[in-house]
Amino acid sequence: MNLSNDYSILTDKARLVIGSTTKLFIDGYYQEPTKGQYYSIVDPSNDEHIAQVARACATDVDKAVDAATRAFETGVWASMRPHEREAAMLRLAELLIENGKELSELETLSSGKLISNTRAFDVDFSVYTLRYMAGWSTKISGQSIDLSVPYLPDEHFSGSTMHFPIGVVAAITPWNVPLCQAIWKLAPVLATGCTVVIKPAEQTPLTTLRLAQLCIEAGIPSGVVNVITGYGSEAGKMLVEHPGVNKVTFTGSTGTGKLIGATAASQMKACTLELGGKSPVIIAEDADLTEAIPGAAWAIWGNHGQNCCAGSRLLVHHSIYNQVVEGVKEIAESLKLGPGLNPYSQMGPLVHKEHRQNVLNFIKSGLEAGGELITGGYAVEGPGAYIEPTIIASLSADAHMVQNEIFGPVLSVFSYRDDEEAIALANSTSFGLGASIWSKNVDRIDKYFRRLSAGMVWVNNHNVIDLALPFGGHKDSGMGKELGYQGMISHTKIKTKIYKRNLGSL
Ligand code: NAD
Repeated sequence: MNLSNDYSILTDKARLVIGSTTKLFIDGYYQEPTKGQYYSIVDPSNDEHIAQVARACATDVDKAVDAATRAFETGVWASMRPHEREAAMLRLAELLIENGKELSELETLSSGKLISNTRAFDVDFSVYTLRYMAGWSTKISGQSIDLSVPYLPDEHFSGSTMHFPIGVVAAITPWNVPLCQAIWKLAPVLATGCTVVIKPAEQTPLTTLRLAQLCIEAGIPSGVVNVITGYGSEAGKMLVEHPGVNKVTFTGSTGTGKLIGATAASQMKACTLELGGKSPVIIAEDADLTEAIPGAAWAIWGNHGQNCCAGSRLLVHHSIYNQVVEGVKEIAESLKLGPGLNPYSQMGPLVHKEHRQNVLNFIKSGLEAGGELITGGYAVEGPGAYIEPTIIASLSADAHMVQNEIFGPVLSVFSYRDDEEAIALANSTSFGLGASIWSKNVDRIDKYFRRLSAGMVWVNNHNVIDLALPFGGHKDSGMGKELGYQGMISHTKIKTKIYKRNLGSL
């Protein structure tokens, strides 16, 4: 079985990246890193070197933040008419479509994701994100209201509010949906008139670097979008701490998010944190199993379990437990493992071998804690970071692998007797990102919606996301929202104006 990507099918532009050395994108053009340092990124389908990536140092972070600050303060973007900003964002969306094949291939090469996934989420969903947020550019508005001021009974006042761009945004993204995450952060920045420095994940910077160039082609002025690459503990940390940054928007693990949140709070920077999850999928006795079983399988095997909202805990009513577990197991065992560039692959490698080892350690801890292996459990021998989709039963709710995010294709399954037990189990981790309830009973659905500790509750579906609604978690899964009006407006600061008026006429 050949599990290695076939580079001969790549577009010419994507092939050019193999063996190349990337630079930083600051102030409108690619620049060498000041210290001339680089690191290697690999293709997780075969462990082969793809490219040398620039490792930014403190001077580079300063340069990028300075460029973003200049672009913000000179008003090249913020003072542009809103409909001109909208037009540039729509041009960027068109450029994403034009370069979609190259972008999805670049994403697949470094992340291991399936080409169908990188096309649908990292490219096409990004296009939709840009178009949706472009529309907000012309619709950001405040309030206008007559005031009462009870302690000045003989005077009259009116008041109004206005939203202003918050300033320079530091955006830090993970490797599981790299371009999509970069665009989730970039689109509200552009719509509100802010500027940005993006630090993509170490392993997957290629599409974000290309995106920065497309921004220039779309007519977005130099300095508005800057990209620095490098290690999180160096470039990422320095960016978050930089005094020139006004808002931090971070997507990644809960551990890193807590560090970033503490830094942002100490400097009174605005901060949005989209963090990890341990989302339950709850299948009630009245669920339509023809939908619920494939739905539960997709919830965990989709993107190889490397989804923040992955349905990694399956809670099934005891009366249908065997049927559901058998159904999800059958789907797991039918999945065709293969390289992301092969359109027939149904599950690619994990992002890298160290991550696969973490996933294997979780499986080991589950089995040592008394878990019963239903299927999978092993790495695939040979090159690449492949692992079998895995199901483990008979674990206690407080087991290490049940309480912690694995971020791989590993599912724990539980049987419950009634709704109270299911809700208690569902809420029994420190996370609160997503949850799904599969049922036909509206009263039951309403009860779960109200009582599940999760920012996102799905009914008879899992992990469906749309720009029109805010996205984000509770508890250890984060703070603030992305997408929707809430995600956009969090990139603004509000000013209130109160004015005294003469009451000559109304
Ligand atoms: P990570 O926290 O290790 O890294 C995320 C990003 O933070 C990377 O760009 C990294 O370089 C940077 N970073 C690391 N240390 C830093 C520091 N001290 N200061 C500043 N930046 C730093 O996470 P990951 O392994 O890349 O991504 C997987 C995690 O992301 C999972 O926990 C997953 O649930 C989460 N995630 C959440 C969402 C969401 O919307 N809630 C979406 C996707 C992924």
